[in-house]
Amino acid sequence: MTDSDPVRRARDVLARFGVRSKVTVAGLRAIYEAPFKELKGIVKSTDTLVNISRALGKSDAYVHAYRLVLAVDDVERDGHTCVAMVDLRKRTSGILSVAAFDSGLAMAQRLDELLLEDDFVYKTSTWAQERSIVKEILRLARDFGPRGLERPKVARLLDAVHTDATMDDFGLTPQQSDAVRMVFGNPVSVLTGFAGTGKTTTVKCIKTIADRMGYVTRLAAPTGAAAKRIRELFDPCAACSGSGSSNGADTSCTCACTVHKLLDAAVDKSGRFMFRRHRGNPISAHLVVVDESSMLDLALTARLLLALPVGARIVFIGDPCQLPSVMAGKVLKDMAACLPHVALTQVMRQARDSDILAFAHRVRAGGLATGGTPVARDFSWEPLEDVGDIIQRVHELVEEWRGEDEDEDGSEGCSFQVLCPARRPGAHGLSTTDLNPLLQRTVNRANREAHHKTAAAAKRKPCRMVPGDRVMYTKNADGLLNGDTGHVTQVVWVPGKGRWDVEVQYEASLRWHDGADVNLDLAWAVTVHKSQGNQYDRVLLVMHPGHARLLSRELLYTAVTRAKSRLVMLAAERCVSACVATGVERFTRLGESLHACVSPLFFE
Ligand SMILES: [Zn+2]
Repeated sequence: MTDSDPVRRARDVLARFGVRSKVTVAGLRAIYEAPFKELKGIVKSTDTLVNISRALGKSDAYVHAYRLVLAVDDVERDGHTCVAMVDLRKRTSGILSVAAFDSGLAMAQRLDELLLEDDFVYKTSTWAQERSIVKEILRLARDFGPRGLERPKVARLLDAVHTDATMDDFGLTPQQSDAVRMVFGNPVSVLTGFAGTGKTTTVKCIKTIADRMGYVTRLAAPTGAAAKRIRELFDPCAACSGSGSSNGADTSCTCACTVHKLLDAAVDKSGRFMFRRHRGNPISAHLVVVDESSMLDLALTARLLLALPVGARIVFIGDPCQLPSVMAGKVLKDMAACLPHVALTQVMRQARDSDILAFAHRVRAGGLATGGTPVARDFSWEPLEDVGDIIQRVHELVEEWRGEDEDEDGSEGCSFQVLCPARRPGAHGLSTTDLNPLLQRTVNRANREAHHKTAAAAKRKPCRMVPGDRVMYTKNADGLLNGDTGHVTQVVWVPGKGRWDVEVQYEASLRWHDGADVNLDLAWAVTVHKSQGNQYDRVLLVMHPGHARLLSRELLYTAVTRAKSRLVMLAAERCVSACVATGVERFTRLGESLHACVSPLFFE
């Protein structure tokens, strides 16, 4: 067999099965070696993948191995990081005999795809991330040095914060003071609190004390919007106040930023994120404060811990009732259960006046009173179920709010956000994909008509986006993060390419996109998942029984707590009850590992 044989064979087989993506010679060689691995993102049908593998001469054990890999992929899509072997056997009993399962599992381990630990089956990559988190926390704990040396100093500074007239908005509760002492006394700690329990005040106090101790503190959050919120709590850093900009774009800037920026993420040649901060080139900080940590997944947490210097402290802050990370796992909850942890439970005075927060706390506690809430000061619930009724009401409310916005400040545009559980259009006809074009027609009518007129005059199909549209980028690429939002500033026809290009003003940069880029969405309506890390003045939440599969307590709580001053919920009573009755359950073994290896070091 010559060198070119595998390439030719792979090309022939792909052609035979109608796989039409462009593949390089190196790609064909890789497909010949590992057809399942290389094609599983491209070929959707498992049967076709099996047939391609067989046509390329792969063994039965190889095919069984990848049936198991796909089954574990499903387990991860449900949020679990691993599965008990007996359960995996049950899940796959319809397609694999006992012998096929055993040979497949052995092969999957040889191929380094799956890993078996204590009768639990993991994807090797996921296991390695969990392992890395445990290992790095262990390292930080060992390197931390003797505890308690700074205790008197922190106590003095805490007293000063309490009595300092210039900081009278602090007025820490005993729980908040405990949190501050915990952060300075431990290499890794966790601070959790529900909405309105004063996490932000605690962060301010931690930063103030750290400054007075001469510490370099870096504040970060998983999304751009969440990072911006923290950035606005503090004066700009020296680099920013010198340049006059405070949007985190400057590389020497030490203002609050995304975790990706803190890790100095860059894109490598294959378009993948790489991090220039790691063990050999750590973040330069004495203290790292990560907010909105409920959104952190295993991979990013592992990378962050890996990039902390010797002797540093890190505190993970988050709301444990929000939706967990998009990827499998529940890092914040697992860490909270096994590491030094303070839970803020006391609802602050200002927050007690909010009906939005009162409702959020009822959702969280699972104790929803019967019937709809009467129209209250800042929260109302209209129990609509018919999609037509819901859409009509969305239009009415949006028109009303738009009018109010124009009265107040015509230049600022619309300060509301429509939230919906689903992105993909379903039979219900109520997804962000359905709602966005409708909202564009209402909210951005004049620009839409102008663009459509221009397009019609030139006999072209109009672009999905028109100037003034709110848009969201949904991929980590080109220096943008999944979830970054911006405004369309112009839409221009590019004759050479025969397409519309769209210019978008993001917070820190101005970008051009292909108007047909599938990663650029209209964002008048966004999913609850994508709204995490953001807060909006007014939120219009729509839910439908057709969303049943997506509804959970965490989803409703997250949606409700996005609203700052006004929340309207359009949802049938049975949708809301379904949310309240369903908690997100995820199985992981991170807590167990932390408990066994790390906890003794913290709690001796
Ligand atoms: Zn700065």
